[in-house]
Amino acid sequence: MSSAAATLGRRTELFSQGQCGKTHKEARFPLFWQLTMGGQVGRMMWLVHYDVLIVGAGFAGAEAAYALANKGLRVGLLTTSLDSVYLPFTPIRAPFPAGSLLAEVGEDGLKGWILHSRAKYRLENHPRIHLLQLSVTRLLIEGQTVLGVESWEGPRKTAGRVVLAVGSFLAPKLYMGSVVEEAGRLSEAAYPDLYQHLQQLGFSFSSVQAEVPEQDGTPGYRVAYKVFAEGEWEPTSMRLTRLEGLYGVGLCVLGQGSYSQMASEGMRLASLL
Ligand code: FAD
Repeated sequence: MSSAAATLGRRTELFSQGQCGKTHKEARFPLFWQLTMGGQVGRMMWLVHYDVLIVGAGFAGAEAAYALANKGLRVGLLTTSLDSVYLPFTPIRAPFPAGSLLAEVGEDGLKGWILHSRAKYRLENHPRIHLLQLSVTRLLIEGQTVLGVESWEGPRKTAGRVVLAVGSFLAPKLYMGSVVEEAGRLSEAAYPDLYQHLQQLGFSFSSVQAEVPEQDGTPGYRVAYKVFAEGEWEPTSMRLTRLEGLYGVGLCVLGQGSYSQMASEGMRLASLL
């Protein structure tokens, strides 16, 4: 191996361990390898660079990931908690969007954990989806173009396009009686980093609230959270127009809607990418 190739190989290895240097040129480097090298290196890069990265594995993000992967794209699906992938608060209600993951694994009245385990099984076993637990803290940006994300856990991930599907997890406050938590849903903590980073980038937000009624012995609660302000998201293209290569889907751009609507929006996004 030439010394240049050895250096490239070392950088690639570091990148795959999430320890690569911080410049965006280096962040793009593994893509070059992926495109030009076969065999071992090519397979290793599959773990690092994706066609599309989706932040959030709720109804919108997971549905988009599934549809994109079925179209042949390689998808990185990132979530703060693997235990809440595709997990509804209340039993789901038909009708479900034709051709969706929700229609594939759902039944009218199905409860959360059963739907979650069925959907997660499909997502994890899809050969073009890499589902992993990472809390995204920042976008990787070069000029006005988004190249990937950074995570609290360390690894950086790169992709041709990045989708924010973070639901009710932008600066949420959950109120239950006298208890106040920073959580997007009951027992699902939210971290402030991504929201603060988006604010620093100039994104503006509006405030939304949702009520969850008491059910099956669980007390009711209220969540107040932020969504992208009108004008930040272009509904036809689903782009967050402040940056190139950045898209938004689901509750974080719509503010409200049912599980089925979020799944439909995920499919619509997949049809655009
Ligand atoms: P979510 O389902 O909220 O998913 C967002 C995902 O993003 C989560 O998995 C979270 O872990 C992940 N995430 C967030 N930030 C990060 C980060 N920085 N890095 C990595 N991952 C991240 N609709 C109904 O039809 N029936 C209901 O009963 C119902 N109840 C609701 C109750 C509440 C409190 C709220 C807020 C909404 C409710 N909705 C309900 C409306 C809506 O359909 C659901 O909120 C739906 O789950 C939204 O889907 P989503 O994919 O956009 O976001």
